Amino acid sequence: MKLYDTQSRDLKEIVSTNGILTMYCCGPTVYRDAHVGNLRTFMLADLISRTVALSRVKVRLIQNITDVGHMSEDFAEDDKILSQATIEKVSALEIARKYEEKFHSDLSQLNIGKADAYPWASESIDLMQSMIAELIHKGFAYVGGDKTVYFDARKFDGYGDISGNKLDSLQPGHRYEYHNDGAKKFHADWALWKTAGERSEMIWDSPWGPGFPGWHIECSAMSMDLLEKHVDVHVGGIDLRFPHHENERAQSNAVIGHEAVDVWVHGEHLLFEGKKMSKSSGNVVLVSDIVARGIDPLALRLCFLENRYRSQMDLTWNSINAAHETLKRWRSKMSEWGHSTAITVDPEMESAFKNDLDTPKVILRLREIEKSELTNKRELFMFADQVLALDLDRPIAVRELTEQMQTLIDERAKARSEKRWADSDSLRVQLESLGLHVKDTSDGQIWT
Ligand SMILES: [Zn+2]
Repeated sequence: MKLYDTQSRDLKEIVSTNGILTMYCCGPTVYRDAHVGNLRTFMLADLISRTVALSRVKVRLIQNITDVGHMSEDFAEDDKILSQATIEKVSALEIARKYEEKFHSDLSQLNIGKADAYPWASESIDLMQSMIAELIHKGFAYVGGDKTVYFDARKFDGYGDISGNKLDSLQPGHRYEYHNDGAKKFHADWALWKTAGERSEMIWDSPWGPGFPGWHIECSAMSMDLLEKHVDVHVGGIDLRFPHHENERAQSNAVIGHEAVDVWVHGEHLLFEGKKMSKSSGNVVLVSDIVARGIDPLALRLCFLENRYRSQMDLTWNSINAAHETLKRWRSKMSEWGHSTAITVDPEMESAFKNDLDTPKVILRLREIEKSELTNKRELFMFADQVLALDLDRPIAVRELTEQMQTLIDERAKARSEKRWADSDSLRVQLESLGLHVKDTSDGQIWT
């Protein structure tokens, strides 16, 4: 399988060690619900796992849960989880566990397979401390004037190889996690261990005094420990390319003495109705919003698949609704096409998956197969669904119309024939509240 490697800016064949592909995916900072844009990135690791499984390659996937140390972008000194704990008036740990649970439920609603481990930052403090100690020992890190431990960016030769942001072009004033108050030697150095200062919650003892870990060291410590010092594929959102992944690479490589990650894969941004999804734009969409509209959450998965992971995509309610209709149609056709559980390999779809996850091509191919005269459509759809995971062979649930529904439908047909549009609209609302979705066609109303 080939994937686009951000560091070499080229397609790269991914190689597994001993038949097991090691993969690391940067996980969520659990202080709020993951919006659908975050989920698009988390789905990327799942698509890679499912594609290599076609070749019987097993995956060992690690995804961290950040429950400490991720500082807010707007307020240089605010920990995202502690701030949310203050707002919700509960402990930081309660916030972290609450949103972690929601994260797992979102993943399962989108058929995103589970990672082999979800290590918590707060439970991996020893691991991070020993890595920091090693970085100091090897001369890559130092204790700053403020007792915070910093990574010495200039000591690491290849800094900037992933993002192209080289140290000599990085000017002070670019957004960093800390203001340069003279505590560190160079403006691009970043904190590995932050001194506790005024902070009293979520702090730990360390050889450098009480404090808490920086966000970037977490991923290095966990991936190097749990994947035995080599990551075949590293996955994350494009926004993490710099500085997070650049810093992570410097830390891991500095400790092990060679390239720790083979392929850096980044998922692109998701727009919603043409705008960046953000709290301030008021256009944040959650999986629960989709479910609340009576839409199958896998319709969202289909929308994502219709776009390649590394192209920016614009999600709209129209596209989600259209995907929902496509899913319903495909599932009902699948039951018309029989009950076989057999799978027929389609070389065209298989090579599209393996060619840097060209899922839009697979979806087009499915539409072609749907309209074709082929006799093994079901078996071909079953093949694609091993990666698409849209539950295409899920039987359509059939429910009987209640007497009340039938009466309202008849009344609405009458209202429409008598051109009483206001009555027709209010009857539609009543029907929808009963769970019946009504659509008007040239042949009259239809419902599902
Ligand atoms: Zn990370």
